[in-house]
Amino acid sequence: MISFAFTPEQEDFRAALADFTRKSLLPEYVRRSASTEFPWDVHRELAKTGILGIGMPEEFGGTPDDPVMLGLATETLAYGDVNVAAAPVNLGLIGSQLLHGTREVQEEYLPPLINGDITVAIALTEPGSGSDASGLRTVATPVPGGWTLRGEKTAITWAMNAEACLVYARDPGSERSKGVSCFLVPLRQPGVTASHSMGMGCLPLGWGSLHFDEVFVPETHLIGEQGLGFRSVMNHFDFSRAALGLLCLGAARASLDEAARYAQQRQSFGRPLSDYQGVTFPLAEHETYMEAARTLCYKALWARQEGLPHTSLASMSKWWPPLVAKDAIEGAMRIHGNLGYSAEFPHQQRFRDVMAYLVADGTSEIQKRIIAADLLKRVGA
Ligand SMILES: Cc1cc2nc3c(=O)[nH]c(=O)nc-3n(C[C@H](O)[C@H](O)[C@H](O)COP(=O)(O)OP(=O)(O)OC[C@H]3O[C@@H](n4cnc5c(N)ncnc54)[C@H](O)[C@@H]3O)c2cc1C
Repeated sequence: MISFAFTPEQEDFRAALADFTRKSLLPEYVRRSASTEFPWDVHRELAKTGILGIGMPEEFGGTPDDPVMLGLATETLAYGDVNVAAAPVNLGLIGSQLLHGTREVQEEYLPPLINGDITVAIALTEPGSGSDASGLRTVATPVPGGWTLRGEKTAITWAMNAEACLVYARDPGSERSKGVSCFLVPLRQPGVTASHSMGMGCLPLGWGSLHFDEVFVPETHLIGEQGLGFRSVMNHFDFSRAALGLLCLGAARASLDEAARYAQQRQSFGRPLSDYQGVTFPLAEHETYMEAARTLCYKALWARQEGLPHTSLASMSKWWPPLVAKDAIEGAMRIHGNLGYSAEFPHQQRFRDVMAYLVADGTSEIQKRIIAADLLKRVGA
């Protein structure tokens, strides 16, 4: 039997981050989340904790790769602010791909990313292809010294505040996953248009569409091998999916803690709410589901750290924990009565922010396809 304990270093790290979360994130979460402004001040503060460099080379300001630590960071930060907590996951996903880029690209982009001075988006989804990502139609046409890109990407997180974007585009005439490459495209250049889209949550993350009209990309900005970009991004999603499960659970933890506290203070029919099993049983049920979901996410991250197969575990961590978290937040809202619905309290905001992760990074149905395919293969006909 393995141990379920975190190492002393991980516990110390979590305690220090929890302090930052409670002092610097939680008090202003509701105000920040109602705005479409990206909170650069908080993002740079976050960078000072070193979190944005986990898994990145030390020469660029990073620290050793530790998927469990990154999960801990995400879960702990989400207790205070779901949107600020998205940054380390995003950086893990982007940074690990940039490590397959040229030295020039790494030197230009990794230090400011790790310092919190810029963000970089990732653009796979298009108006005509989301779950079926290999149906993307953006084309990269070879020209002397590089390629020109033409196409449109939609529903892109960070589209409005990113300095550059990892764009997936295909060789002319290629089909499905074959011939798809990944390019790092600076967004502040002629031919690129970014348009904001309003979502029900995650407002500060600058969700939007990116349109590329014959945008030149130099050879130096190809990330990974030409034509193999699709396979590469799927491998990196195996990490981000488990971290996103923990992000949702961190937010739900905050709402459930607040509901348990409120149930002991609020009087109804002459007694505290916590005297009624109609209130405490739902609390106990959410607590149970959250504990199980959390263990699943950390198992996925641990498997990644150990180099064990974890694609199926990552997909389990992406479809179930966000659902468990959403239900727990809804339960906490109901225990708060009218205050749970109030825009002055964080529960409705967390609910809307967490809903994003039932779709982003692959919907629940797509995760179940991955898990089922793994199961069917393992069992055989
Ligand atoms: C908040 C947010 C942030 C996002 N950020 C990014 C980003 O940064 N970069 C990026 O590239 N994309 C991003 N996306 C897009 C996201 O990845 C897609 O929305 C998602 O993959 C689903 O694609 P779709 O919206 O086109 O839905 P569709 O693929 O059209 O699916 C519609 C519905 O049908 C279901 N469905 C589809 N195919 C099947 C099937 N074979 N079996 C069963 N059910 C199926 C889906 O699960 C879904 O319920 C983001 C989305 C959201 C909501």
